[in-house]
Parts: sequence; C-alpha cells; structure tokens
Amino acid sequence: MKAVRLHKYHQQPVVEEVPDPVVKGPLDVIVKVGGAGVCRTDLHIIDGQWEAAMDPDLPYTIGHENAGWVQEIGSSVTNVTVGDTVILHPTPTCGLCRACRAGQDMHCENSSFPGLDSDGGMAEYLLTSARACVKLDPSTRPQDVAALADAGITAYHAVRKAIPLLYPGTSCVVIGAGGLGHIGIQCLAALTASRIIVVDRNPAALELAGKLGAAHTVVADGNQVEAVAELTGGGAEVVLDFVAEEGAEQDGFAMTRPAGSYFVIGYGGTVHIPTLDIISTERNIIGNIVGTYNELAELMELAQSGRVTLHTKTYPLADALGAIADLDAGKVRGRAILVP
Ligand SMILES: [Zn+2]
Ligand SMILES: [Zn+2]
Repeated sequence: MKAVRLHKYHQQPVVEEVPDPVVKGPLDVIVKVGGAGVCRTDLHIIDGQWEAAMDPDLPYTIGHENAGWVQEIGSSVTNVTVGDTVILHPTPTCGLCRACRAGQDMHCENSSFPGLDSDGGMAEYLLTSARACVKLDPSTRPQDVAALADAGITAYHAVRKAIPLLYPGTSCVVIGAGGLGHIGIQCLAALTASRIIVVDRNPAALELAGKLGAAHTVVADGNQVEAVAELTGGGAEVVLDFVAEEGAEQDGFAMTRPAGSYFVIGYGGTVHIPTLDIISTERNIIGNIVGTYNELAELMELAQSGRVTLHTKTYPLADALGAIADLDAGKVRGRAILVP
C-alpha cells in the first residue's frame, strides 16, 4: 500500500510503497482509511519536537486523525464488523489500567499513539484496536469527519472541561480559529451560553469564526489584549488558547480576569508568568491533551446532527507533501484531509 513515511527529522516525509498491516492480536482492527487529517502536530513531528516523548523507529507512517471502514478484525472483536464506518480514537488503549477504568483514555498506561509512536493513518490501511473504534452512521463520509479524531476531540475535551465555568453572562476567548479553533467555537456555541470572542491574525479565519458563532472577533494586530479587556470589562472567565506559541501564550493568560482560567491546547511556546500573579488573582493554567473515548462519541453526535461541521480541503494521499506545505504556509482554512 501507499503510505506517508518520515525517514529523518527536519526532512519532508516520503510517499512510498510499504507492506499492508496485518492482524496480530485478538482485538486488532484494520481500517481502510477514508480520510486522514493533516495536523500542526505533523509539522511539529517533522521538526523533531516529539522525538524525545514518542521516539518512534524511523522510518514510520505519520497521521493520527483517521476515519474509514473496518477491513479486517481479530478473533475477539465484537463491537465492530467488516464494512462498518468508524472514526478512531487516536490512542488504542488497554482497558485494564486505572486510567482506562476511570474513562481517562488519554492517560492509559499501556496505549500506543499511531502516527506519533508507531505507524499511523496517512496510508491506505491502518492497524488499530477494537477499543479505539467509534461506529458511525454508514452514510457518514470518513473524509468529512476524520479530523474530529484528534483536532475535534482535543477541542471538544477542553470545551467540556470549561463548561462549569461558562455559565450565562460569562465570556470565553478563543485564540486561533484554525483547524482546532473552528471546531472549538462550534462546540462552545452548541454547549454553552457564554459570549464567544475569537482572536486571530487572519481576517479570513475571523470571518469564518463569525459564521460559526463568535459574538466578537478581534484581529491579533498587537492590541489584542487591550481589545479583549475592553470587550470583557477586565478579562474573560475562560481563555481557550489553540495557538500557545509565538506570543499567544503570554496574551492568553493576560486575557483572563481574576479567578479566570487559561486553557493551553496548542503548544510550542513557553509560559513565563510570575507566580505572584497566579496566587494573588487565583488564576488557573490548565493543560489539555486529546480526550476520552466518550467525548469522541459525544462529538460525533454533534457532527452527525450537523451542529459541528468541519471545513476541509481534501488532497489525494499522493499529494501529502502539498497538503503539509499548504498547512505550513497558512493556506488551509479549516482542515487539510488526505483521501487515499
Ligand atoms: Zn492532530
Ligand atoms: Zn489503559
């Protein structure tokens, strides 16, 4: 099969022929990939930022946002059958550890992360597990939902955590209306009555944000912290930072009000905040990674009822490098999707 393989860090991946994956364990599932999202994390992987944390054997296949159709199942798989349309939780989990038993799939002690630590889904077929499969309505096109598997679940997870803080009358700032942010805005609009304020450098992204539920949009032109302070009367209860690099991580904390919460969802930067500022105003800094299986299933309810839609630009698998280059150049509105 064809797959997008990373041979060396700081070098573009290569689209090449590799053997098809095979079922080895009783709970293995092989999925024919119908859509594979291209993510900023893929750019960070190519840059070597994930090497220390994940350390995959190179070369390997990238791609961690996948949906498709079940192609083959192991002998003990009962929750899906060949031909089912599925979206895949990004981390196949063990189901037996304390985190799994608490439903915290992203903290499983024995999980893998295809596309980060092992072969992922920018390929014709992907090996995953029964526990990772969320069954979809057969009319769902995998390419329309694939990016919800990581970008979507991550945005949804942060919004879900913020809900108790976002009672009517509050403001929620969204920094970055790109791949994750545009999903986060729709989740906020579907699940809360909070006033949504979106900050982005790109006017086209802000225009999309307005259509998806933003009450106010703010151009990140250097005065964004002041603009948010003015709109919110001194800061927002919640800031969801989908960028968290190149200065956004300083802005994000500064946009919160006393007792407010700064959710870090994007990454790449470093937060420098005097501890005195944190204690004296009781502000919170909250990390977010992926989400739970149930959160992905909930998000798919929103997606299949049309309340969360992905804005996508599709590319054939063979043009993976074009998609990666477009994402890197800021030319993708919404999400780039490879369709094998
Ligand atoms: Zn991703
Ligand atoms: Zn586990």
